[in-house]
Order: sequence, then C-alpha cells, then structure tokens
Amino acid sequence: MTKWSRCRFCPRRLTDPESQRRGFGETCGRQRGLLPPKRRRTRRRTAPRPKPATVPPADDVIPGQTEIPLTYLQVTLESI
Ligand SMILES: [Zn+2]
Repeated sequence: MTKWSRCRFCPRRLTDPESQRRGFGETCGRQRGLLPPKRRRTRRRTAPRPKPATVPPADDVIPGQTEIPLTYLQVTLESI
C-alpha cells in the first residue's frame, strides 16, 4: 500500500497515519467533502440575545411630540 507523506491537495506533510493512508489531510478531505465534517463537541452557544422589546406607540402620543406627564391640579384655596 502506498503511503503518502504529503497531502495530495496541498503541500502539507501528513503526520497522521490515517491521513497518510488516505493521501490527504483531514482538512483537505473535509474541504473536498471526502470526509465527514468534524464532530465538534457542540458547546451550547449562549442563548440568543432577546430582541429589544418593541414598545408599541401609545395611541394618544403624536409622533414628534414629547409626552408630558399629567399632574393633577391641586385645588387650593389660593387657586380659587
Ligand atoms: Zn491538504
């Protein structure tokens, strides 16, 4: 059996005996679809960032106008 010392697809040396038998490295094999993709230990990706809560515009707010908080008028003796 021929043993490959270098990758068939790239000038890299093959160090892995498995790769030497195949004639190409794992990287090239995967790039060419000759090898199944590496089974990486799937690390749970951080949960997707929650979308910013879209506050629906209030019905009584006119765009471009700032809302002024309502204050109850206190009826005092002086105001009458
Ligand atoms: Zn290669």
